[in-house]
Order: sequence, then C-alpha cells, then structure tokens
Amino acid sequence: MKVEIRISSACYLCGLCIESCPTRVFQLLGDHLKVDQDSCIYCRGCEILCPAKAINLRLLDEELTISRRKTLISIK
Ligand code: SF4
Ligand code: SF4
Repeated sequence: MKVEIRISSACYLCGLCIESCPTRVFQLLGDHLKVDQDSCIYCRGCEILCPAKAINLRLLDEELTISRRKTLISIK
C-alpha cells in the first residue's frame, strides 16, 4: 500500500497523531513532524483526529487501480 501524507502549515505540533498512529508513522523532530509514509496502513485515524485538519492522505495504489480500470475499459 502506498500512501502520500501531507502535513500543512496549520499543524501546531499538538502530538495527537504521534500518540494515536498504530504504526508510528509520525515522530517529532525538533520543530516539525517526521513522516514515515511507508509504514502507513491508511486507517485514516490521524486525518479524523487532527484538531487543525492539517493531515491530508492520498491512497496512491487505489488511484493506480482506478486508472488501470479506465484504461482497460477504453481498450474494450
Ligand atoms: S494532530 Fe495535527 S496538529 Fe497535531 S501534531 Fe499531528 S498534524 Fe500537527
Ligand atoms: S492513516 Fe493511520 S496508519 Fe496512516 S499515518 Fe494516519 S493514523 Fe497512522
């Protein structure tokens, strides 16, 4: 599973995502969040919990699947 995780400037480092992520994707590094995108299982908990709505998730695999489906349909 490939997930793109973007943190906007609205993040105020409350730490909720760090505490709640089941696969420890987030780490506080100085004055910013370090994000290990490869560990994300796309549970979407952080996106819902973030009080600043600063987390944006995009499931890249699903988009690939959809674009493959579209290509297959256009070939038929
Ligand atoms: S929960 Fe949101 S505001 Fe809090 S540290 Fe994470 S991204 Fe930043
Ligand atoms: S979607 Fe789930 S696994 Fe991925 S970063 Fe957010 S809380 Fe962690």
